Amino acid sequence: MSLNFVFDSALDDTAKRLCYEYWSYASPSDYIAHLELLCYDHNTEINALFTALAECQVYLDDVHCEYCGRPYQLDVPADVPYARRLNSWFCEGCISFSGGQLVLGK
Ligand SMILES: [Zn+2]
Repeated sequence: MSLNFVFDSALDDTAKRLCYEYWSYASPSDYIAHLELLCYDHNTEINALFTALAECQVYLDDVHCEYCGRPYQLDVPADVPYARRLNSWFCEGCISFSGGQLVLGK
């Protein structure tokens, strides 16, 4: 799995490691258990986990907007298998710029 991470400069290494581990997991079936285990392993609270995640942007480096080449930005790990199934993808900016002429791939 090839993900690119862009961290807010305020994040420390512990928070970055949390983000990496959070994103290493792409199956949504026991998502809550995954979150609890992460917090347990790092001796942290779920709020701290989400704070760290909010400061971290994650992109797929093998799915790009067909028009402008911008990489696909992920919101949750379950987006990964979804994005990989798309034959083509246009980013929101290009879709709104085109006035609806570009549409999401099936
Ligand atoms: Zn685009």
